[in-house]
Amino acid sequence: MEIGEFFAVRPKEGLEDLMSLDIRFGNGAIQAIMSFMLKNQIVDTFLSFQERKDHFTLKPVLVEEPKEIFDISLSQFIAYNLPNIDSVSKYVASKLNGTKDKKIGVIARPCDIRAFIELAKREQVSIDNLFVIGLECIGRIDTKLLKKVLKKAEIDLESVVNEKINDGTLILELNDGTTQSFKLGEEIDIRSYCNQCPEKVPKENVADLTFWIDHPLEGNEEIFEVRSAEGQEVLEKAATEVIEAEKLSDEDVQQLKDYITSLEQTALEVQESEFAKLDEMTDEERFEYVISNFEQCTSCMMCIRACPICYCKDCNVIRRRKELDPIMINLTRLSHIGDTCVACGKCSEVCPKSIPLCIISKKLVEDSKELWPGHKPGHNVEEIPPRSWKGMKAASSAE
Ligand code: SF4
Ligand code: SF4
Ligand code: SF4
Repeated sequence: MEIGEFFAVRPKEGLEDLMSLDIRFGNGAIQAIMSFMLKNQIVDTFLSFQERKDHFTLKPVLVEEPKEIFDISLSQFIAYNLPNIDSVSKYVASKLNGTKDKKIGVIARPCDIRAFIELAKREQVSIDNLFVIGLECIGRIDTKLLKKVLKKAEIDLESVVNEKINDGTLILELNDGTTQSFKLGEEIDIRSYCNQCPEKVPKENVADLTFWIDHPLEGNEEIFEVRSAEGQEVLEKAATEVIEAEKLSDEDVQQLKDYITSLEQTALEVQESEFAKLDEMTDEERFEYVISNFEQCTSCMMCIRACPICYCKDCNVIRRRKELDPIMINLTRLSHIGDTCVACGKCSEVCPKSIPLCIISKKLVEDSKELWPGHKPGHNVEEIPPRSWKGMKAASSAE
C-alpha cells in the first residue's frame, strides 16, 4: 500500500462479532478498522456519535471498547450532524484538552479538518495525537427543511430508522420496511453553505485516511484512500486481520476524482456568484449591507459558541454582550476570525436572525489574500498565523 492509493474495503469473511451486528450503513469496513485500532491500542479512544433527542441530532460520545464502535450512528452523522454548537474539532479542543494527553481517533468532515489545522496553529490541538479519518462530504442535509417536508408528507419523524445519500438522492428507510427518496436540490437539500463549499474531500495531509461512502463505483464496498504513513500502517495491519482491501484500478480512481471535481466545481460557481453579489456593490452599498445585517443581531452569542475556531475560554465579547452594541459585537468577532474562518457555515446556521455571517467572513478572507499572499485558513499546519506576534514580526522584518 502506498500513500495516495485508493482501496475498496470490506470486512473479512467470518468476522463473527461484526456480522452478528446490524450495520445500518455501508458494509461495516470502517467499524472493523476502528475496532481494530482500539483493540490494538493504536488510539486510546474514538470520538463517536449517538442519537440525541431525536433521530436527526447526534451527541458526541467517546468509545474505548472495541465492540462498542459497532453502535456508531454513522449514517446519521454523514447525513446530519452534531448539535448546533458542537463540531468534532470544537469538541476535541474544548472537551478533550486538544488531545494533548491521549491519542484520539476522529471521523471529520473537510471543514472540521480545516478547523483542526487552525486550532493546531494556535496550540489548541495536538495534531500528532489525532488519527483522522477524513470524510468525503457532499454536504449535510438541512434538517429544518427535512422535518418540514416530512411533516407535510405526513411521515412520522420517529418512523425514520436509517438514511443514505447516494448519487444526489437522500433515501430514508422507515420502520415498516419501506423507503422514501428525495432528490437533493428539490424539496430537500443540503445546507446552503454546503452548496457553496468547494472542498468536498480533505485537501491537506492532516487526514490519515479518507473515507468515501457516496461514490459512483459499483458494489457496496467502502472506499479508503491512504493519506499518511500512519494511515498506511493501520490499513496494512488491519488487512492482515479484519478487512480485505483491493486496490482500485486507475480508471476507478479517475471516476472517483471526476465525480468529486464536478461537485466541487458546481459549489465553486455558487460561491463565486455569492462573492460577485458583494463585488458588484459600491463600497458604500457593501458597508450598508454589512451594517444593516449586523443591526439585526440579538446578541445571543450562538455564532461564537458554534464557531469551531473561536476557542477563547474567557471571551470578552460574551462577557460584555449586554453592554456592547450589536454592530460592535459583530465587528469585533469579524476582526477576530478574519484570518481564521474555515467557512464551515455553522455561524450562519445557528443565527436566529439568518444573518449571512459565513459569506461575510469568507469574503473577508478572500479579500485579504492581497494582504497575506499564500494565506488560506485551514490549509497549512506549518503556517505562522499572519496576525500572531510571530507572524507580524516575520512580516515586519521582511519589509
Ligand atoms: S461545509 Fe458542508 S460540504 Fe463542506 S465540508 Fe463542511 S459539511 Fe461538508
Ligand atoms: S466564522 Fe462561521 S464559517 Fe467561519 S469558521 Fe466560524 S462558524 Fe465557521
Ligand atoms: S448568532 Fe446572530 S443574533 Fe446571535 S450573536 Fe451571532 S450574529 Fe447576533
